[in-house]
Amino acid sequence: MQAAIDEALLGLREGGVPIGAVLVEDGKIIGRGRNRRVQQQDQLMHAEIDCLRHARLTDGYHNTTLYSTLMPCYLCAGAVVQFGIKKVVVGEGRSAPAARNFMQSHGVEVLDLDNALCKEMMAEYIRQNPALWEKFLAELNPDILKPSLPSISIRHHLLPGDVGYITYLHAVLYAPRQGWDHTFDSYVAIPLAQFALRNSPQERIWIVENEGRIVGCVAIVKFSESEAQLRWLLLRPALRSQGWGRKLVQEALAFSRDAGYSSVFLWTVSALPAAAGLYRSVGFRETEKVTHELWGRRVTEVKYEMELK
Ligand SMILES: [Zn+2]
Repeated sequence: MQAAIDEALLGLREGGVPIGAVLVEDGKIIGRGRNRRVQQQDQLMHAEIDCLRHARLTDGYHNTTLYSTLMPCYLCAGAVVQFGIKKVVVGEGRSAPAARNFMQSHGVEVLDLDNALCKEMMAEYIRQNPALWEKFLAELNPDILKPSLPSISIRHHLLPGDVGYITYLHAVLYAPRQGWDHTFDSYVAIPLAQFALRNSPQERIWIVENEGRIVGCVAIVKFSESEAQLRWLLLRPALRSQGWGRKLVQEALAFSRDAGYSSVFLWTVSALPAAAGLYRSVGFRETEKVTHELWGRRVTEVKYEMELK
């Protein structure tokens, strides 16, 4: 890291932005570079790019580590992923964290040293050159500075493919982990297909989509005039722990009240404690438990019920 800092200080003395980088292979530095945005009036001359441009060619970058005084931006992170560099060590990662996730999602190990000198060097430069720094930021695509929010929507009508796809999601998200066999598919598919055919105003499905892709669902199914059954609660892992499960269950309960039911029940399995916690937190209580051979395993099914007021 000291070699990268030296490059950054060299850049500072040249009147440039103090960001330095070195590429290390088997403990030896094989490339050095510094940001030359100002010196060369070249907006592509980031420290990491300059370093790669001047690096000795290798048979492959999988044994190399890139050191940079600042967390690589998307341009440089793209180069890291493109070249197959497996490890990136940064002096300062907090002021530009966005591309860290990008690199990690491509299997790159990212280590943030949180180095005091690296932090102070950047902070001091920005204090001394606020207008220049603003200008550099303005050159960036402003969208990459915003966190990417998933665009989630909910629909209540079924489309061709939904019955099959929701069955498929249940199967792939639950069966392998629980050790269930293909008969679990039928347990989901048969009542779901019957639900789809009834198209009853006393029943409703919530299909959660993210950019056109189904990522979750829940439904209220009529069991009798007074009893509704909550079924098919499902969320892809990326959507869990964000309140979506609670929101879906609460909407389903509100619908059940409006539809005139006096109670709602559901069946789950004892091996899904997070779901059970959610049901209890909105007012369901456990009323029945049965252990039997199901879906190729011994499964403990648990019934939860709730009176609607
Ligand atoms: Zn960069």
